[in-house]
Amino acid sequence: MKTGYKPKKYLIKTLGCQANVADSNTISGVLEALGFEETLELKESDLFVVNTCSIRQKSEDKVYGLAKLLKQNQLKTGKMPFVVMAGCMVGSVTGERQRYAFNELKKRTPWVNEYINPSQIMTIPETLLRIGLIGEWAVQKFDPSGVIAKQKETNHAFVNISFGCDNFCTFCVVPYARGKEVSRSKDDILKEITHLVGRGFSHVTLCGQNVNSWGLSTSKKFEIRTGSRHKLPFAKLLRKVHEIEGIEKIDFISSNPFDFTKDLIETLKLPKISDYLHIAVQSGNNDVLKNMNRRHTVEDFMSLINSLKIAKPSVEFGTDVIVGFPGETRDQFMDTVKLFEIIIFNVAFISIYSPRKGTPAEKYFKDDVTLKEKKWRHSYLTNVWKSSKLKYE
Ligand code: SF4
Repeated sequence: MKTGYKPKKYLIKTLGCQANVADSNTISGVLEALGFEETLELKESDLFVVNTCSIRQKSEDKVYGLAKLLKQNQLKTGKMPFVVMAGCMVGSVTGERQRYAFNELKKRTPWVNEYINPSQIMTIPETLLRIGLIGEWAVQKFDPSGVIAKQKETNHAFVNISFGCDNFCTFCVVPYARGKEVSRSKDDILKEITHLVGRGFSHVTLCGQNVNSWGLSTSKKFEIRTGSRHKLPFAKLLRKVHEIEGIEKIDFISSNPFDFTKDLIETLKLPKISDYLHIAVQSGNNDVLKNMNRRHTVEDFMSLINSLKIAKPSVEFGTDVIVGFPGETRDQFMDTVKLFEIIIFNVAFISIYSPRKGTPAEKYFKDDVTLKEKKWRHSYLTNVWKSSKLKYE
């Protein structure tokens, strides 16, 4: 029987890291619980959500560039979807750790109808009710605790275990964009994973800005150092996830070197834990690391890598590095090169430093490495990384 009912359609554009992918999956879960259907075509969408990233200026520029796309779509179809901006660009101007004024963002994005920061996803139904995209009945039926994040793949799911970050690395926008670090409860996480297994998922990636500090109080997490004997709640959580029947592979991201304890290293020996480990080193020079407010030294990192190799000989590493950080001399950069000659990284995200408004590095350091020099360092390190990888392939 035809009812004539046509579900509203939504399109989500996701930029940035796995945390944003996981948030977009939750937004999809909310919208589908409200009766929306996903489309991949802007021209068909009633609702367009752009989940933004602030990590680099380039990511923000991509968002500003959407104005043109929406305009072209309007000229072709004669309609404009309701536009919601979510993610880190909104988080950076709202909440208690504002990096710059909300009005500045509003002025640059007049095509956005509504802004929600990463902690406001569950307010989407109220917004949609207010603008008439859904009725009262849909909101009444909506149960936030019953929302299941939509997963794009058939067997691999991304599950957020914590949100935000309190580390304040001086170059990074995340503590502002995503706010204070908050851990989800163990019960909620295990319930979600068990539910995913019931839907056929066997590979899970646990996501957070710093998963190692999951479940720790603020004071406790700053006591912990690389290789210490602290028992981490996160290691316990990994063991619990490992016990879930039907789970075959477990990954986690992001993990930092400064709170990678012996207990966590031991836990990685469990057979379902993936062989790939992503640990951001950021620089191979201790003075640069100090200016970045990283809480590890190069020696800590090297000893962590050695302990990991001993505990799990099949382990493979990925990392993040910034070249051209304020004040980084050619010699200090060469220390990072040396590190890349010693450690083989299967994956390396090598970034050129660019100041992000409102961060300590932007406020207190001079961006004194020329763009030409930064580009040279980027290409030099990329070549070293590629050839060191080749030697071991
Ligand atoms: S640990 Fe540092 S780099 Fe990672 S999200 Fe937190 S502040 Fe940013």
